[in-house]
Amino acid sequence: MSEMFAIKLPDGSVREVERGTTPADIAAAIGPGLAKAALAARVNGELRDLARPFEEDSELALITARDEADALELARHDYAHVLAEAAQNLFPGTQITFGPATEDGFYYDFAPPPGRGPFTEEDLPLIEEEMRRLIRADTPLVREEWDREKVRDFFVAQGESFKAEWVMELPEDETISMYRTGEWLDLCRGPHLPSTGRLDPDAFKLTRVSGAYWRGDQNNPQLSRIYGTGWLNKKQLEAHLVRLEEAAKRDHRKIGQEMDLFHLQSEAHGSVFWHANGYIIWRQLEAYMRRRLDSAGYQEVKTPQLMDARQWEASGHWGKYRENMFVVPDEIPNAEEEGPILSGDADLMALKPMNCPAHILIFRQGIKSYRDLPIRLAEFGCCHRNEPHGALHGILRVRQFTQDDAHIFCREDQIVEETRRFCDLLDSIYRDLGFADYAIKLALRPEKRHGSDETWDKAEQDLRDAVRLAGRATPDYQWGELPGEGAFYSPKLEFHLTDAIGRTWQCGTLQLDYVMPERLGAFYIGEDGEKHVPVMLHRAILGTFERFLGILIEHHAGRFPLWLAPVQAAVATIVSDADDYAREVAAALAAAGLRVETDLRNEKINYKVREHSLAHIPYLLVVGKREAEERNVALRPLGADARQEVVGLGALVERLKAEALPPDLGR
Ligand SMILES: [Zn+2]
Ligand SMILES: [Zn+2]
Repeated sequence: MSEMFAIKLPDGSVREVERGTTPADIAAAIGPGLAKAALAARVNGELRDLARPFEEDSELALITARDEADALELARHDYAHVLAEAAQNLFPGTQITFGPATEDGFYYDFAPPPGRGPFTEEDLPLIEEEMRRLIRADTPLVREEWDREKVRDFFVAQGESFKAEWVMELPEDETISMYRTGEWLDLCRGPHLPSTGRLDPDAFKLTRVSGAYWRGDQNNPQLSRIYGTGWLNKKQLEAHLVRLEEAAKRDHRKIGQEMDLFHLQSEAHGSVFWHANGYIIWRQLEAYMRRRLDSAGYQEVKTPQLMDARQWEASGHWGKYRENMFVVPDEIPNAEEEGPILSGDADLMALKPMNCPAHILIFRQGIKSYRDLPIRLAEFGCCHRNEPHGALHGILRVRQFTQDDAHIFCREDQIVEETRRFCDLLDSIYRDLGFADYAIKLALRPEKRHGSDETWDKAEQDLRDAVRLAGRATPDYQWGELPGEGAFYSPKLEFHLTDAIGRTWQCGTLQLDYVMPERLGAFYIGEDGEKHVPVMLHRAILGTFERFLGILIEHHAGRFPLWLAPVQAAVATIVSDADDYAREVAAALAAAGLRVETDLRNEKINYKVREHSLAHIPYLLVVGKREAEERNVALRPLGADARQEVVGLGALVERLKAEALPPDLGR
């Protein structure tokens, strides 16, 4: 039986090939250079092995290292397999489970051999060595299709209970693939690179070991997870390690301590103790945001922390979100010595996990007409969400947080204009805060969703149009669409900012919502005299103060612009003769609204300089006998390359005052 398939290439040309032909054959037919560079293939959009034959007429794109995202994903998955084989070679009796690619590498979960105990970091160099040997051996990774019982029997014979259990649970109609590397086999969906030799033995590093549970369930056996970072070449790995080192230097927890900004302790898991210095930054940021929202036509409101469970039932949170809510009984506790403090049948209340329902309740007060819209309700809303202790991270991931939240209630015909205005406001705020580099993404309808295709078409198009009208649907904003990543009930815009060391953080969002206003009975009277449900835009620019301040700390590495710096200047004396003058300098600056400290200690000036640099104080004002006589100060900006400059007292005050103006007030 000879059957031909038509294979269409990206340049539009079509090749007729026989059944059994593979993408690797086509790469070889095009030229030896491509045959060598090809890593995998996209066949009708699906990433596949080079050696997997075509099954129908197909569109083919060959993947090379230039397709970096795909190439990295493939390499990381290969590294995971090599890691698993290495661990089994070195430690016979080790069972394999799962090993996916991650954002910067890979991991693999193992059940260590009985009696051995979990893997430790001491094991890593040996495993790395074995991995390098396996990579250098350049063994082909071959896909084989097996039937499920054969797979189970194979793993049972190997003493591998986890894989044997897993394969029997795969859907009946699924083709089961095993990947063979020489003698070694793993149950895996693939795809993979053609052979282990395509990996660079110097482009990976095993980084750490942690505990994990089989299938993520703590009632199941405990496994050892080995993490690694993996790249296409040594240069990429080294750049990544430098980034990690730079990130460690900027760690907000470390800088938070050096600058006395905040602390965390286990008595309040996931809630931040803001110290005076940290809260100054918070207050500056909040005041700035308040001014921007006021002038953009928002009304600031404040809503209750605790609301009755019935309210959360009505909003739908009680059903879907209850496990993330802190629930409180609505009852006077029993003061008697005997008996439980609370009865079992108390009414329940919950701390708000979000502000939206409360804003709808405000909207519902009084009849609204179409002429009243849009109504923009803003709140620096303090919310609580019950996150597991293990998921918390410094002030970046917390349980009590304050959002720069707002909800815009508008008519359908106002969605585009309100979204455009939001894009402009966000852009201006990000630039003011030092993040000119950010990406805008439109998250499109997910597979499981609420609402008709017609509604989705319009909602997606409205958001697209708004970003275009704002002039930001361009490569400068890395404008792009994310298929399938929208929320259950609507599409959303995401704003991802890039920090000083190239990391990206999603902070801003705008999400359309047709559902919650209807659910909670919000309406306005239209031009036709009928009741209509308003559309609600949930939007945030910073996200939460806690996380955004964490990002700001790491972005600036503690060297804040003057308007945000907790202490803006320190006056340090060289000799005690200058004490009175130092006090006078500090008083003049304080009278001009600057945050200033004096350091009159009997210490060497170099010691004082070092200490204030560590606290990241932007300006050190050094005064000695001569400065006191001439009414000058020696101005010394923070930083190793800083040059000292002598300035008259009056000029100094004017200069720092101007520099300390928040960006919106300086315009
Ligand atoms: Zn695999
Ligand atoms: Zn909301």
